[in-house]
Amino acid sequence: MFAEVIVNLSVSELNRTFDYGIPEGMDLSIGTRVLVPFGARRGTEIGYVVGIKETSDFQCKDIIRVVDSVFDERKLNLAKWMAKKYFCNLSDTLKLLVPPGTGNKVDNVKAKKEKWASLAMEIDLQQIKSDKQRRIVSFLLDNGEVPVSELLLFTDTTRSVLTTLEKNGIVKLEEVEVSRNPFANKEVERSEPLPLTERQQEVLDKIKVNEFGEYLLYGVTGSGKTEIYLQLIDKVLKSGKTAVVLVPEISLTPQITNRFLSRFGDCIAILHSRLSPGERYDEWRKIKEGKSQIVIGARSAIFAPLENIGVIIIDEEHDASYKSETTPKYEAREVARYLAKSYDIPVVLGSATPDLRTYYKATNGEITLLELPNRISNMGLPDVQIVDLREELASGNKTVFSRKLYEEINQNLKNKEQTMLFLNRRGYSTFVMCRDCGYVVKCDQCDVAMTYHLTRNKLLCHYCGKEQSNVFLCPSCGSKNIRYFGTGTQKIEAEIKKYFPTASVIRMDVDTTRTKNAHEMILSKFQNEKIDILLGTQMITKGHDFENVTLVGVLAADSSINISDYRANERTFQLLTQVAGRAGRGEKKGRAIIQTYMPDEFSILAAKEQDYKNFYKQEIIVREKLKYPPFCDIIIGVLSGEDEEAVKREAERFYRIISSRLEAYKPMPAPISKINGLYRYRVLAKELVDEAVVSVLASCLEEYYREKPNDVRLSFDINPNSMV
Ligand code: ADP
Ligand code: ZN
Ligand code: ZN
Repeated sequence: MFAEVIVNLSVSELNRTFDYGIPEGMDLSIGTRVLVPFGARRGTEIGYVVGIKETSDFQCKDIIRVVDSVFDERKLNLAKWMAKKYFCNLSDTLKLLVPPGTGNKVDNVKAKKEKWASLAMEIDLQQIKSDKQRRIVSFLLDNGEVPVSELLLFTDTTRSVLTTLEKNGIVKLEEVEVSRNPFANKEVERSEPLPLTERQQEVLDKIKVNEFGEYLLYGVTGSGKTEIYLQLIDKVLKSGKTAVVLVPEISLTPQITNRFLSRFGDCIAILHSRLSPGERYDEWRKIKEGKSQIVIGARSAIFAPLENIGVIIIDEEHDASYKSETTPKYEAREVARYLAKSYDIPVVLGSATPDLRTYYKATNGEITLLELPNRISNMGLPDVQIVDLREELASGNKTVFSRKLYEEINQNLKNKEQTMLFLNRRGYSTFVMCRDCGYVVKCDQCDVAMTYHLTRNKLLCHYCGKEQSNVFLCPSCGSKNIRYFGTGTQKIEAEIKKYFPTASVIRMDVDTTRTKNAHEMILSKFQNEKIDILLGTQMITKGHDFENVTLVGVLAADSSINISDYRANERTFQLLTQVAGRAGRGEKKGRAIIQTYMPDEFSILAAKEQDYKNFYKQEIIVREKLKYPPFCDIIIGVLSGEDEEAVKREAERFYRIISSRLEAYKPMPAPISKINGLYRYRVLAKELVDEAVVSVLASCLEEYYREKPNDVRLSFDINPNSMV
């Protein structure tokens, strides 16, 4: 007998199968991980069995030994389906199904306090000649920051190889403060299922657990969706099956996981991106060996090696993090749907602000709509007020707090109630502009405005990380009238301290959450130490239930409207509704204040009323008129390279190929026309992408790659999160 083996998933050039003989008596099947002879000088590689057959046309070597069993035939079919649908190699999609490391000699590794390694620069694997160095770099590309001991173990290399890479500036080693996995070995009090409300019971009864079905559970924040998830899972477990729960990475906090832990105990595996590869490996094993019946995790948890899945739940289904932006560029909801069909089970999408595409499907019957229109607590939704910042300015208030918000914060301080202040950092950070000639200091590598960082007193590019010193004279006209515009979280923190000197403040943004578990630490500090004000970016909007928060302030709602993206209205509505929903989760009524320069925008008005359906009604008309999703999919190819002429030429060639088969728009410089020194051109097409169109696009890509350009890269995606 012969096995078809995919060798070394990290090297995309090897995206084909090799035949190997199966020695007499060797026990293997689809998805078995094996050690095979490969390459010159008696080298070996790890491979994965993807087929078994009677004969081979080749002169085959034998498999050396079996390592372990990693996936089954169903998962192999999933990987094949994904490779086709998302235009990538089978080795790219198989990678999602296998545990970290080469599988050679891994046994319960644990992260300790030690140095962690990460890549110090962007690097192309092809540039690295040494085998061992390549294994290290490839592992770091896949896993980001990794403890050194785990790195050496998983890649089967030695410290001296790492030292060489460090000397060459490719890898950096840093001492990282590691607290233990916040979810591990936790003692939580047991909780019993709550008696459901009539409405909840109706919803639960409508979900058929023994057949395929796609459901949208649309319920306002605090309407009892999570309780339904818990009882649905309970039902499924009792029938001997397992469950997958996906939540956005950002809301994967102890608060939500505790609710699952307290209901189901330790049959839960929790997968999140802050696990080290060793911790991830442990979780992977636990699931594979059948010790966990419930997996909770971010996007990639959909690939956990669970067997006999009985339900898939996707909470906050509108969240952008369910779409992968790196190869394979999959959409977890589509993968969930595929798996649900394959297992003949339900997939439940939950949200207070559903993705417009999902709700559209629910209105035309493709998805079953389930609704929970009211909050469980009789407090109802918070009162939302809109404050017009133009009026504030006109009456001489130049601070970031409107008079109304100022008053309300003071009120909260007096009542010893907590406040959350939200700043949409994206596109709203501090940039530097000359007041005389309008010159904006930009990164010369990226064509985006540099951001001023208070703590470092430096200008920083958020795209490439380039730093430059502060400017005091306009580089263009020489004027001294240089000003810092916009407001970053650091500056707001300073303002809070100035105007509310007695208040305690804690800040949560990318800068304060760099270290492992910083998220959890900030949130539990806010809760336990009764900090008066939590100030933060997107990160504070989701998944946290603080009983004592009665006031939410949105400092400026506009920044997400002013982005060049067809989803701007949708994102603004979602964000504001989610933020406002943070107020009044306990016994006291909540209130929210939205400050804006555009009080008449319908996305803001709908968020004030927290009226999703009204928002949907208006936005869907716009989408249909302009032909945007859900009435089409957005197909985007971005060509990039150092030589602008070459990039333009390739963009035109790509456009010619695409436009011969589909209707496409002429190539244009991308909205951000240069990043990291690379020029960028964009080719765009709008088309409903079904199986036929996938085939057409695949053949277009094949034709494009037949003439392989060396110095120009094509990044291809459908419905990417970012249009820039
Ligand atoms: P959502 O997931 O929609 O935000 P939750 O399930 O978290 O809503 O419910 C909101 C609050 O109401 C939680 O504190 C939860 O414990 C409580 N709750 C949910 N269902 C019930 C019920 N049937 N009876 C009493 N309390 C409930
Ligand atoms: Zn830059
Ligand atoms: Zn100037």
